[in-house]
Amino acid sequence: TADRALRGRHEHLPESHPTYFSRPIAMVRARDCRFYDERGRSYLDALNNVTLVGHSHPRLVEVANRQLGRLNTNTRFVYDVLSEYAERLTATLPDGLDVVYFVNSGSEANDLALRMSRYLTKREDVVIIDDAYHGYTSVVADVSPSRYRHYGKPDTTHPTPVPDRYRGLYGYDDPDAGARYAGHVIETFDRLAAEGRPPAAYLFEALLAGGGQVVLPPGYLAPVFAAASRHGALTIADEVQVGFGRLGEAFWGFQTQGADIVPDFVTMGKAIGNGFPMAAMVTTREISRAFDPAGRFFSTYGGNPVACAVGLELLNIVEDEGLQHNALVTGEYLRERLAALADRHELIGDVRGQGFYSGVEFVRDRETKEPASEETLIICERLKDRGALVYPTGPAWNILKLKPPLTFTPAHADEFAAALDAVLEEGW
Ligand code: PMP
Repeated sequence: TADRALRGRHEHLPESHPTYFSRPIAMVRARDCRFYDERGRSYLDALNNVTLVGHSHPRLVEVANRQLGRLNTNTRFVYDVLSEYAERLTATLPDGLDVVYFVNSGSEANDLALRMSRYLTKREDVVIIDDAYHGYTSVVADVSPSRYRHYGKPDTTHPTPVPDRYRGLYGYDDPDAGARYAGHVIETFDRLAAEGRPPAAYLFEALLAGGGQVVLPPGYLAPVFAAASRHGALTIADEVQVGFGRLGEAFWGFQTQGADIVPDFVTMGKAIGNGFPMAAMVTTREISRAFDPAGRFFSTYGGNPVACAVGLELLNIVEDEGLQHNALVTGEYLRERLAALADRHELIGDVRGQGFYSGVEFVRDRETKEPASEETLIICERLKDRGALVYPTGPAWNILKLKPPLTFTPAHADEFAAALDAVLEEGW
């Protein structure tokens, strides 16, 4: 089966389309925190940040099937489940973020937020955090890392330093790191304004995925938001990776920077449907009114009844099963287990993260911090052979990204840590 599946891919998918692992796995099913391949082998899922409430959650399977068998259509009709879901979803957000644009992918959500920012401000420039990925449409590819900018780096995109306290400009030992990193963003705003091109938007992730599992330092967003407001730039929180309780402390990533941080747009995807393709962008009534009068937005599939039923049930499950709390507690436990391995394995340079969103950075030398990129790939391959799935990330691909379902238990954390310990013990 694996050979046939691979041949089919080679014939019909773009050649650049990567698979996880050198010998790809033919997966046939998954349940809760485990995948099962065609030979019935099971793999602990520590890499998949989409299945928030665990794979094939019975309650989601049930509501999706029920709604699919009853009604699936588009938002030109009126149906209860949309109103109910929109109400429930916006209740998780700060007051004022009340209007939902239902779309189909994180890329579309960001695309729409950027389009609205540019339309409303009559400006073009966008300030971003360097190395943050925001999606694949032409507009968002141009505000993503340069390797994705197929149209060339437009001079309207303005990257600011990744606020990485392990290898960046200001370290963990600097209590003002947040304010110092914010200073670079503010300088960028000021420079653009002085050049007569103040930015339309500031677009950020509350914990950088592609940038290498970088937690925003405390005190970073508040001064940036104040500067954005001074310059009339709109703020876009890309919650595609971090939202829905994953960070434990708060339901939304931007909230981990303080209760007074309220973006103009919140974009969401991935976890929103536990793998069912759906996404959303939420903004204020005021912004929506300024953009909307001519009916500038409609998505055929966005907000369809099946998506709304799945999204609504997902929010219920997160609450009923206390999953945000589990992300906080078991996420911390997982990091403690990983940090303990650093005492015995020199290769581990840094363990960081928030909730169930962690990074383990491997270096060849703790002084020079030379990225152990090849070793990291080998570690992932060996972990796979031991039945634990995780994958590298970061600019040098030397960081394990750990994003298990929020149903991950301490026993799963022990299992993962033991597998990593054994892999590192094998040596090179
Ligand atoms: N934003 C972030 C932070 C992402 O990680 C991704 C996808 N990896 C996207 C946006 C784009 O989402 P999608 O693939 O659903 O279009």
